[in-house]
Amino acid sequence: MRHKVKGIVLREIPKGETSKLLTVLTAGLGVITVNAKGVRKLTSPYLKCAQTFAFSDLLLYEKNGFFTLTESALIEDFYSIREDIKGYSLACYLCEAASAFAVPGDESVNILRLLLNSLYAIENSIASLKIIKAGFELRISAECGFLPEVDSCAECGDELGDRDFIFGIYDGVAVCRGCANREGNGILLPSAVGKAIKHITESELSRFISFRIGEGEQALLAEVAEKYMLSRAERGFKTLSFYKHCEELQ
Ligand SMILES: [Zn+2]
Repeated sequence: MRHKVKGIVLREIPKGETSKLLTVLTAGLGVITVNAKGVRKLTSPYLKCAQTFAFSDLLLYEKNGFFTLTESALIEDFYSIREDIKGYSLACYLCEAASAFAVPGDESVNILRLLLNSLYAIENSIASLKIIKAGFELRISAECGFLPEVDSCAECGDELGDRDFIFGIYDGVAVCRGCANREGNGILLPSAVGKAIKHITESELSRFISFRIGEGEQALLAEVAEKYMLSRAERGFKTLSFYKHCEELQ
């Protein structure tokens, strides 16, 4: 069976002398593994399409659930992301996270759009890397059914408005300070962080990181976003350690 899909390469593994196995996030088929024959030859017309971050139109042949690349046309390679080690390490992390959350056969294109928008934001410095990372982490969680509830207190039901609140990483709900003692542990967040979380998770995908936030609040947002996503993923990411290492470099 033949498929014509758009897809982005999340991971490449060398196979044999000249080929690669690609993990590709597609529009329509979810995340799939694609056998890309001969793409490590310098003369291969599909060399550029078979690299991590490459977004292309792909012609695939499927047999017994295995996909083979038959033709491709590059749309965007995000190649210049490689010029900055911090941006590059973040892009690698976002790709690994996308492959962990994406499901084979998923017809939704939202994770793909989120990843493309995030890579574009890294490449064009649309926002700080901290904001892009936090935005991606919260939005991918929300897209996968883990929408944080930050409008009102989960205990008394009061609207939180401009009040500080306690956010529970594991249950994804907010509790007002009056009810907090009964709730146990969580992270105390100012309302500005709550508004940022709401914007990231509920706005149009094209605008998910279009908001302003103060420096101290940005650090809190970054902390809560990472913890929230990791608790949903129930695993660690090698590329996250790499990003943190790069973040410390001057
Ligand atoms: Zn309350």
